[in-house]
Amino acid sequence: MATVVEPQVTTYQQYIDGAWVGAASGDTYEVINPSTEEVIARVPSGGRADAARAVAAARRSFEAGDWRNKTQAQRTEIMYQIARHLQEVSGDWAMVESQNSGGTIRKTSVADVPLAIEHFRSLAEQALQIPWYEPLPWIDIPNVSWNFVQREPVGVCTGIVPWNFPIMMAVWKIAPAIAMGNSAVLKPSPLTPLTALLLARAIDETGLLPRGVVNVITGPGTDIGEELVGNPDVDKVAFTGSTATGRRILEMAAQTIKKVTLELGGKSANIVCADADVDLAVDGSLFATFFHQGQVCESGTRVYVHESIYDGFLAKMVDKAKSLVVGDPTDFSSQVGPVISRAQYDKIMAAIERARGDGGVIECGGGRPAGAGDKGFYIAPTVITGLPDGSAASCDEIFGPVVVVHRFSDEGEVVARANGSMYGLAGGVWSRDTRRAIGIAKQLRTGTVWVNDWHMINVLAPFGGYKQSGLGRELGTYGLKEYTEVKHIHVDQGVPRAERFFYDVVLS
Ligand code: NAD
Repeated sequence: MATVVEPQVTTYQQYIDGAWVGAASGDTYEVINPSTEEVIARVPSGGRADAARAVAAARRSFEAGDWRNKTQAQRTEIMYQIARHLQEVSGDWAMVESQNSGGTIRKTSVADVPLAIEHFRSLAEQALQIPWYEPLPWIDIPNVSWNFVQREPVGVCTGIVPWNFPIMMAVWKIAPAIAMGNSAVLKPSPLTPLTALLLARAIDETGLLPRGVVNVITGPGTDIGEELVGNPDVDKVAFTGSTATGRRILEMAAQTIKKVTLELGGKSANIVCADADVDLAVDGSLFATFFHQGQVCESGTRVYVHESIYDGFLAKMVDKAKSLVVGDPTDFSSQVGPVISRAQYDKIMAAIERARGDGGVIECGGGRPAGAGDKGFYIAPTVITGLPDGSAASCDEIFGPVVVVHRFSDEGEVVARANGSMYGLAGGVWSRDTRRAIGIAKQLRTGTVWVNDWHMINVLAPFGGYKQSGLGRELGTYGLKEYTEVKHIHVDQGVPRAERFFYDVVLS
């Protein structure tokens, strides 16, 4: 008789105030592998009380000052040591990330884990460039005085992140916060908490950060999230996720006028000019759309191809899309893995059906890939044509392996169509004429534009959205400054009372 092998289920705890703890309620929930639909971990189902406890720990550590009062050089050096430790202990993180998020092992081992550690290190390094003290020019109006700007940490910073790039998103929230002397509380997506907890474990192992400077709590969004946004002891909220939740966070943050940065959704336009290198643009457009099953906020999911090359471009794109290997993300031969959850799978399938109903031509994909069996949230790479710009599939973020291809005839027209979106996260232009490409790039109302490339997020560059794609920027010195306050200090230079004529407005 065959032996039934139960999948191994690992139990995790939350990291609060330097200790590993369960939820205050004692509740746990199960974490699912989206490729097998099996339970792979059990995690505390934290709630408001856990969030309040983590915020209190962060506040205590901030007020105690052991971290914020270090010099920038000391903080950066400690973060370098942590980054070295992350490198040593992260051998199995790519596999955990693949099993939990459905990201292919090709992606998690080449991009997610090594880049997350490099971003942690680089943000610590870039923090050395932020001026903590800037003298202002001497001024004698209203009175001779010496003025300077002092930069300070914001305080307690909470980070709320989605499920698509769990380790990367954890680093994008924790690293800039602590680099600038703040204390941090991170809430990963309930679907993908594992690598954020491994990150916390590794930080804890170093013993280099004072208690309470980094906290990671797990559980459903609404209760925890509302505490992390509403608690008066929180000074800044950094959120990555959907535009709908971003709106809710902004509303909640308004009650206590919190500093908020938001990285939200997108529907990025990918413009392929008549003079593009077609083979490169086809590969680039497939990469722009199907990398991580299209579950990337800046995916190039609206492709505009010049009419003179449209037919050849589309034929090549569809041929290659059909040849992509969809399968087990932990297998190095898989190019496309499953989407994250049953809910996301159903949402994407419904969007494809809607596109079909709106008159779209499903050039390839449009359902489960052949041979996928009935387990796992797999969707075949889907290319759709024949839809107007105003159709749902052309406007809404589908967040799955679905791309809509349109044709265009002139540059002014395509720029207007590309900008005709409520989103403004990213865009791209393919052309052999760099001057033309840059000319188009400058007209796109988006936070990032790639010329003859896609997905090249750069840790030195600001990342964020125009319009409803977000508020503020992450990464680079632009992102680090979001984690500071600036204070103007005015020092009188001994101006005699008789010359203080503004006093006379009240006193003469
Ligand atoms: P989501 O908005 O549902 O959830 C994001 C996070 O917010 C999760 O941790 C969730 O638990 C939490 N949350 C949910 N409701 C909350 C509430 N009321 N208060 C506080 N927190 C709450 O998004 P998702 O489904 O996890 O992720 C997919 C979305 O994220 C997509 O729309 C995508 O475009 C966006 N995204 C944007 C970026 C970016 O950088 N711009 C990056 C990745 C994902």
